[in-house]
Amino acid sequence: MPEAPDNQYDARLRSEELRSVINYHNRLYYELDAPEVSDAVYDDFLNELRAIERRYPELITPDSPTQRTGAAPLTTFEVVVHRNPLLSLSNCFSAEELAAWHRRAADRLDRSEFALTSEPKIDGLAISLVYENGRFVQGATRGDGRQGENVTENLRTVTTIPKALAGTFPERFEVRGEVYMSRSGFEAMNAAIGEENLEREKVGRKPLSLYANPRNAAAGSVRQKDPSVTASRPLAMFIYQLGWCEGPHPDSHHEILGWLKEMGFNINPEVRLHPGLDDVHSRIQWWGAQRERLDYDIDGVVLKIDDTREWDALGYVGREPRWATAFKFPPQQRTTKLRAIEVNVGRTGVLTPFAVLEPVIVGGATVSLATLHNEGDIRRKDIREGDTVIVQRAGEVIPQVVGPVLSLRTGDEQEFSMPAVCPSCETPISRDPDEAAYYCPNTSCPAQAIRMLEHFASRGAMDIEGLGERMAITLYQTGLATSPADIYDLTAEKFMTLPGIKAKGAGNLMRGIEASKQRPLVNVLLALGIRHVGWETARLIAETIGRLQGLLGVDAEGLQTIDGIGPVVAGSILDWVSQDRNRELVARLIAHGINPVHQSTRVEGGVLDGLTFLVTGRLESMSRAQAEETIRALGGKVGSSVSKTTDFLVVGADAGTKLQKAEKLGVRVITEQEFQRLAEGGPAALESGLGA
Ligand code: NAD
Repeated sequence: MPEAPDNQYDARLRSEELRSVINYHNRLYYELDAPEVSDAVYDDFLNELRAIERRYPELITPDSPTQRTGAAPLTTFEVVVHRNPLLSLSNCFSAEELAAWHRRAADRLDRSEFALTSEPKIDGLAISLVYENGRFVQGATRGDGRQGENVTENLRTVTTIPKALAGTFPERFEVRGEVYMSRSGFEAMNAAIGEENLEREKVGRKPLSLYANPRNAAAGSVRQKDPSVTASRPLAMFIYQLGWCEGPHPDSHHEILGWLKEMGFNINPEVRLHPGLDDVHSRIQWWGAQRERLDYDIDGVVLKIDDTREWDALGYVGREPRWATAFKFPPQQRTTKLRAIEVNVGRTGVLTPFAVLEPVIVGGATVSLATLHNEGDIRRKDIREGDTVIVQRAGEVIPQVVGPVLSLRTGDEQEFSMPAVCPSCETPISRDPDEAAYYCPNTSCPAQAIRMLEHFASRGAMDIEGLGERMAITLYQTGLATSPADIYDLTAEKFMTLPGIKAKGAGNLMRGIEASKQRPLVNVLLALGIRHVGWETARLIAETIGRLQGLLGVDAEGLQTIDGIGPVVAGSILDWVSQDRNRELVARLIAHGINPVHQSTRVEGGVLDGLTFLVTGRLESMSRAQAEETIRALGGKVGSSVSKTTDFLVVGADAGTKLQKAEKLGVRVITEQEFQRLAEGGPAALESGLGA
């Protein structure tokens, strides 16, 4: 949670600044359907303002964004005054916050437990629909909660909104729900707008703007002047609540939803009833994992007390009901201060700028450093030291800085330029004209040597337990190991000369080093840190050379015949092998007994023969590398990106853009369990649902 400044003077300044920033983003979001920042970033500003107002209530102004919902209706539409206001929802970001919400409601109701419903929090726009004698007569946006826009004619074009109801129904009543656009519909629509823009360009017409995300596309499509434009947009609606109602209705929320479904309303099939709070947690987790697989965006799970008679008793606090709350998924984007831009020297000498941030929790983890890729990227995004920046962590991706929040710039921010000398050894830096990368040309640069030691010992390479970044620095600085081969000259006695290392620790390290001598050839090749040689290339080389000694004998001709190794990679391998110090490193490793024979795992005619796979997201029972190894072992191929030739995309938790691309291309998406079935019995087992 953000903290309020310690003195009222600063708090006042900051709250004024935040109000103006929030109002600016409200206008972009609610009126223009064109947000500049993500919801999580917006929520950060709002939560910071809430924190200040909680500490200094005298700073609350009646028009503060914390006191209002949405934005006033646009004058394009007739105004609808809602009979009962359409409000917002309180948020919880953790099990503790959810328990606190539950406790507050339980105290007021004087009961320790009550039934709850859970439903997805659809990311679209809130809509109120009024029915009279079974006919749809009025549809309105939420607007500022009290007054919305009359969009009845536009909503008539949405096929999931019934125009006439089935069965029996109250004479007059209101239902509320969310109009949304599916992800696939959104992409198709933006693609169509893109094509239309090409035509427009030819005749000199102004291009139409693309929508930022499905939520804004849905809001923009509902609020069109011309209903035929709305009709052409792929909109749908889920009803999530009964509003006011003239006539009898069931008492519980879940029964009401069932009742509305019989009348013909579209109710989300995943609404569940839970006897109490304990039962809710596993459902929230399920939604977290399910989220990426849905064809519509959700940003949380809404929990409501099932007995609607309690709703009146509980009432509202500000703009939020006490009888419902939204459990929000951890935000993947947050804002924080960029303290400084520093430069890292990689093991191959390449200089990479990175951001030193004020620590912030993003997607459930604390982030204090983030990559900035290269100088060009920093310039393109106009990121400056001192900026408030948006930090992103998505799925498998390491934290990155998306860009600055320009509306918070003070003028004191500093532009960045690459240093002229290496920050480690002060050698003037060079620039590779082809790759636009800066690098330190000094082959004895300490930073490079330390990174190399660290890389050599890392997981997936020699995997030496206890030899991480800190130990690599110590070994280098004390001169105990400056090259990876030196690691094998170490003894327990030498380790014990290092500060803080006792006999037990030294013994563990020695065991880790000894065990690393047994690593497979692919790991050893990877550990050598040859530029452009990743796991797949290392595997291809291992298949060809058979044992480490063979690396010293590779030539251009031999490398050319390896399917999957292109000229750039081949050039890099040859360059590495031609350097004396690298040949010496290989010879020393072999002398220490590291000369594994490659065990080819590939099986011709395996059950996955002829099939191409890609694995994305976090798997539960194995790492991605293990899944890929299994695929190869069973005769399948592992592709590098999703394409029409991909047969299966295996999806774990927090899958990213690969999943969306696969869905777009119609590539078959399978779960980890389905993959296991496939691996056991081939495609036939998958189709018949047999196996594990
Ligand atoms: P909210 O969107 O967090 O929650 C309330 C809304 O949830 C309801 O109005 C309803 O429309 C919706 N909802 C979806 N499924 C529901 C269900 N099953 N049951 C009940 N309600 C359901 O609250 P808000 O006050 O509307 O907050 C505005 C949202 O808009 C926030 O997420 C905020 O980040 C975002 N926003 C973003 C920007 C920006 O610039 N990115 C600007 C303004 C607002």
